[in-house]
Amino acid sequence: MTIYRIALPTPLRRLFDYLPPSGASVHPVPGVRIRVPFGRRQLIGVLLEISDASDLPEERLKPALEVLDTEPPLPHHLLELACWAADYYQHPVGDVLQQVLPVALRKGATTEAAPQTHWRVREGASPEALGGRAPRQRQLLELLLTRPAGLAAEELREAGFGSAQLNGLLDKELIEPFEALPAAPDSSPEILKEQPLPLNDEQQQALEEIRAARGFNPVLLQGITGSGKTEVYLQAIGRVLETGGQALVLVPEIGLTPQTVSRFRARFAVPVQALHSNMTDLQRLEAWRQAREGQARIVIGTRSALFTPMRSPGIIIVDEEHDTSFKQQEGFRYSARDLAVMRARAEQIPLVLGSATPSLETLQNALGGRYRHARLTTRAGNARPPRFELQDIRQQPLDEGLSQAVVTRIRSELAHRNQVLVFINRRGFSPALMCHQCGDVIGCDRCDARMTLHRSPPHLHCHHCDHQRPIPRRCPACGSDDFKPQGAGTERTEGALQRLFPDTEVLRVDRDSTQRRHAMQEIMERVNAGDPCILVGTQMLAKGHHFPAVTLVVILDADAGLFSADFRGMERTAQLILQVAGRAGRAERPGTVLMQTHHADHPTLMQLVDEGYEAFAARELTLRRESALPPFIHHALLRTEASRPGRAEAFLSALCEQLVANRLIPPAVHWLGPFPAPMEKRAGHYRAQLLWQSYDRRALQQLLADLCPLLEQLPQSRQVRWSLDVDPVDN
Ligand code: ADP
Ligand code: ZN
Ligand code: ZN
Repeated sequence: MTIYRIALPTPLRRLFDYLPPSGASVHPVPGVRIRVPFGRRQLIGVLLEISDASDLPEERLKPALEVLDTEPPLPHHLLELACWAADYYQHPVGDVLQQVLPVALRKGATTEAAPQTHWRVREGASPEALGGRAPRQRQLLELLLTRPAGLAAEELREAGFGSAQLNGLLDKELIEPFEALPAAPDSSPEILKEQPLPLNDEQQQALEEIRAARGFNPVLLQGITGSGKTEVYLQAIGRVLETGGQALVLVPEIGLTPQTVSRFRARFAVPVQALHSNMTDLQRLEAWRQAREGQARIVIGTRSALFTPMRSPGIIIVDEEHDTSFKQQEGFRYSARDLAVMRARAEQIPLVLGSATPSLETLQNALGGRYRHARLTTRAGNARPPRFELQDIRQQPLDEGLSQAVVTRIRSELAHRNQVLVFINRRGFSPALMCHQCGDVIGCDRCDARMTLHRSPPHLHCHHCDHQRPIPRRCPACGSDDFKPQGAGTERTEGALQRLFPDTEVLRVDRDSTQRRHAMQEIMERVNAGDPCILVGTQMLAKGHHFPAVTLVVILDADAGLFSADFRGMERTAQLILQVAGRAGRAERPGTVLMQTHHADHPTLMQLVDEGYEAFAARELTLRRESALPPFIHHALLRTEASRPGRAEAFLSALCEQLVANRLIPPAVHWLGPFPAPMEKRAGHYRAQLLWQSYDRRALQQLLADLCPLLEQLPQSRQVRWSLDVDPVDN
C-alpha cells in the first residue's frame, strides 16, 4: 500500500493520509502540491512523506485528486526550514506551508510563467490628442511610445503611474491592454551601473569580515545611522553577483523606504526585484518565479520574503535587524531574522545583520563569538553625528506640550533656513478626553483603554481594537459638556506648531496623514525641496528616510518608554531615540537632538546620550543576565482569551494542574502565571497568559511539544482561544 502524507491548510497539527490519485503509476517527490478531497471541500496541500502504512483502515482512505507539480515549488532545504519552523514555533505545518508559498500557488496556479496585463499605444495615437492638459497622462503616453512591445502594468506602476493615468488614456482611446507572458528581465552582462564609493577603513574592515569565511558566516554590522552600512551591503552583494550568486535583502517596511530599492537599482545593472504589499497575487508569483529561476539577482522584501526560493543563493542581508516587524505577531509567529540565520546556515552563505541599535539577542551572539562583529563608528563622507541635549522640563510651563526652550530653538533653526523634525509617538489629537467637571475619562467599551481624540475628522478612536465613535456631547457620568483633552498627539502638536509658526509649512507624518496613496511620496518631495519646514510625526519618521536639511530633532516625550512594565521597554526606547536622532544632520550641516524630559537625571537616559548605544546595551545585558531574562534565558508565552472574565485564567490553571499531574514539566523549565495580560480586556475579550522560561532550549521545546495536544484536549478549550508565542518580542 502507498500512502501520501499531506500537510493541509487546517488548524490541525498533523499530516493527513491519502491514497495516490487513481491511475497514478509514478509517485511524485515530496514537496509537490496535491489537490485532495476534504469533507465536502477540496484543499491544496503539500506532500511531505510517502509511507507504506497508515493508522487508518484502508477503506477510510480517499484517493488524492491531482498532483499539481512535477517539481516541488520550494527547494528541499526551504521545505525543511518551513517544517523545522512549524515545529519550533509550534504552528500547524499545513498552515506554515501555506504562508510560505505565494498566494497564487496556494490557490493552484502553476509555477510556470503566466500571462499578465500589459499596455501599449493604439495604432495612430499621438500625444497631440491630449492638448495641454493632463501632464501625467502625457508622460505615460510618451513612455509607452518608446516601447512598441508594450509594458507590463507592474512596470508602469513602478515607474510611478497608476490607474488614474491608465484609465484617462484608455477613455481617450489612446492606449489598450493586452495579455502577454512577462518579459524575462534584462540580463546585461554588466553588473554595475555606477561605481562603488571608495570605502573608509571601518567599512573596508566590515567588508572583509563578511568575506572572511566561506560558507555560513553571520556578521553583525553595527554602524551608527549614516555610517555607510548600505554601502557595505552594496559592495558585499557586488562580489556575490560577480560569482553568479543572488542576494536576498530583508527590510522592515518597504513602502516607507522606497529609497532603499532605488539605491540598489541605481548601483546594479542586474534585475532587482522588490516585493511589496500592493502587488497583485500574480505579480508576486512572477517575482517569486524570477527569483527561483535565478533571473532576479537581488530580491528586496519584508518579513515574508524570507522564504523566496533562489537558484544560486549568495548572501542574505537583514537591515535594521532589531526591528520588531521581523517577528510575525499572529498565527505563525516566526521571526524572519532568526529564520534568516537558519536559512543562511542551510545554504552555507554569509549573513549580514545590520543595525545602528542591534537587538540585545544579536548583540549577545556577537559578544559571545557566535557572530563576527563589525563596527562603523563614524559617519561616512563629511557628515558629523548629532549632538544630544536633555531638556529638563520639570516645573516649566508647556504650551500644548512644547517648552519655551524648544520653541526658541525651533525658531532659530528656521531662521537659518533649516528644517526641524518633531517626534511624538502618538497619533491623533490627544490620547485622552477628560470631563472637566467629574474627571471621568472616556474609555473604550471593548478594551481596558482610553479612547484617543482625533480632530481631523472629529471622532474618538480606540487604537487597540480600532473601534470608532462620535465625540459625545455630554459626559456619560455627570452630564456636563465641559471636556478637556489630556496630553498631545501628532494632530495637536501639528496645530500648536502651525499656530506658533504661521509662515512655516508644518507637515504631519503618521498613519492617518499617509493613508492616501502617494501621500508619503508627496511629503518627501516637499521635504527634499529643502525649504525650511517642520515635520511632525510618529515612528514612521524614524525609519530609513534621509532628511539632509533637518538640523534639529526634537523628541517631545522622551520619557514615554522609561517606566514600561515590559522588560524590553528600555531597549525599545533607546532604539527609537537613536533611530529618530539618526535623521538629523545627515549631510554637511551638523544636527542636534533635543529631548524634552521630566527625568533629565535618569541614569539610563544619561548613559545613552553620553556614551552611546553600546555602553547602554552592555549595562542592559548585565541587568538581563542578573535578572534571568532573555537573551540569557528562553521564553515562550502562552496567551489565552475568552469572552467571559476569569475563563482564560481558569483554563491556564487547569492546564498547569494537568501538566503537573502528568509530570510533563521538565525540571529545567519554570513558569510564571497564570496572570491577566497587561491590558486584560481587549476588543471585548478577557485575556490571560502564562510564561514558560528555561535556560535549556531543548527542555522548553519538549514541554511545548507535549503542551499543544494537551491544550487541544482540555474540556475548557472550546471556550477560550489560545496561542503560543515562542521567543516573544513583547511580553
Ligand atoms: P547607513 O546605511 O549606515 O545609514 P548609508 O550607507 O546610507 O548609511 O550612508 C550614508 C551616506 O554616506 C550616503 O549618502 C552614502 O552615499 C554616503 N557614503 C557611504 N559610504 C561612503 C563612503 N565610503 N564615502 C563617501 N560617502 C559615503
Ligand atoms: Zn463628567
Ligand atoms: Zn478598544
